[in-house]
Amino acid sequence: MSHEHQYLQLDRQIVGDIYTSREAMDNLTILCDDFGSRFAGTPEERKAAKFIQDTFVRYGLKNVHLEEYPYAGWSRGEATLELVEPVQKSIPCISLPYCPADETTAELISAGHGSPREYERIGGQMEGKIVMALSASPPDLGRWVHRKEKYERAVLGGAKVFVFVSEHPGVGPETGSLQNDSIAPIPGISICKEDGAYLLRLAERHGTVQLHVRTTDINEARTSWNVIGDLPGVESPDEMVIVGCHYDGHDISQGAHDPASGMVSVIEASRALSRYASRILKRTVRFIAFGTEEIGLTGAFRYVADHRDELDRIRFMFNMDASGGEGRKGIGLHRWEKLEPFFKEAAIDMAAEIPIGQKLNSYSDHFPFVLKGVPSGDMSDPEAPPHGRGFGHTAYDTLEKVELENLRKASAVGARLALRIANADEFPAKRRADKAVQEVIESDPGLEGYRVSLELERLKREAI
Ligand SMILES: [Zn+2]
Repeated sequence: MSHEHQYLQLDRQIVGDIYTSREAMDNLTILCDDFGSRFAGTPEERKAAKFIQDTFVRYGLKNVHLEEYPYAGWSRGEATLELVEPVQKSIPCISLPYCPADETTAELISAGHGSPREYERIGGQMEGKIVMALSASPPDLGRWVHRKEKYERAVLGGAKVFVFVSEHPGVGPETGSLQNDSIAPIPGISICKEDGAYLLRLAERHGTVQLHVRTTDINEARTSWNVIGDLPGVESPDEMVIVGCHYDGHDISQGAHDPASGMVSVIEASRALSRYASRILKRTVRFIAFGTEEIGLTGAFRYVADHRDELDRIRFMFNMDASGGEGRKGIGLHRWEKLEPFFKEAAIDMAAEIPIGQKLNSYSDHFPFVLKGVPSGDMSDPEAPPHGRGFGHTAYDTLEKVELENLRKASAVGARLALRIANADEFPAKRRADKAVQEVIESDPGLEGYRVSLELERLKREAI
């Protein structure tokens, strides 16, 4: 059958170009070394948005523009953690995005790995205390427990402060936002693995540990930008495939792996498709560099709100967040069983070994699309066991750890899949109705943390 080889010539051009070019690494170098963290509210964030815009134009994309939106900004202030009892000592710490300015002295209590069961066990004792949890996921739970879920369970338990402890030795404290696009109800700080272990030993030997925590962060309204560029479809330009990644990193880091390795892979996919496929794409492929993901997926939430009339016409949203690191470049579908045969066939067609499965979480830019029922997936290995962030979200997420070979893999897979999604005559998924979205929210094991967020939101509303 001729079908299997429909894109063979095109694939050879796309893959051949990507694998004989350094463009992805050159762009990564500019994003990381020239624009640093690109953290929300920094001048470098704005410069990065402009750079991505200019690059899209240079690669021949159409309709290239920035879309501006307001969001709740946050700037790091100095944070201090003082041991008061049984000894007096300062422990280095950082506050986490959306931490309020505050000052508290209270007793420490450990929530272990921060699993639902561990929180249940200390349920009655959290009130008024400083609750500490490791960033590691509970070994026996079978799913990753995100920082935000641990923080919110502490808030729900009546904690006064949350202390997040890195699971990885030698990388210092791990950052990450406490809330989405809003000031957090209680302070949250982060310390390194070694100091967390020290505090636990003290608590074991002495019974009680008293801590004094002071935070001085600034929370104020700001503006950010999504960057958009299109390769318009020649047959049905109103229908589209979205390929995206965020460009903002955390302020303590270059964010080279998360997100920039994914961002430059999206940009590289746009370059290859523009060069070889722009005249044959049946539907539009829209590339989006999302803003302010790290502090609440704000750019993506804004996008779905501002483009609500177009959501029915999105065939698929493919999130390539941090996709240029190690590991297999597969597809984690967001509860779209009907799409598995389509992608399996695409993998055969591409002669590629692409793991395909169902895996959903609420912690990256696909999620606002999931909530609106848009078919979506992310570039990941759905068969990989739950794992921590490694050097991710620390000061050590730096450029030299990213390999050009992995950028090439991600870019080539992204470009070839986008081509196939845009050009398939039939695509076996349609936007979900609200009721079906609700069923996914209520039942998906990967959305446990989101259900905790909904509970906290409900309590906040009742308190007003
Ligand atoms: Zn990311």
